[in-house]
Amino acid sequence: MQEVRTFRCRDLGLACEYEEMAESENELMKRVEGHLQTAHQMDPGHPEVQERIRQAMR
Ligand SMILES: [Zn+2]
Repeated sequence: MQEVRTFRCRDLGLACEYEEMAESENELMKRVEGHLQTAHQMDPGHPEVQERIRQAMR
């Protein structure tokens, strides 16, 4: 059984109402990366960005 993971841009300190949910960390990561890239011009391939996403996940 997998638990639902959530991510909010606000937890990254961004003034953005984006919120995402997924059944697994990998799926959530995929969706969040797409948003950060298109909406915030962040590079999701960068290790520091990956780390920030993981720490912001609930
Ligand atoms: Zn956002």
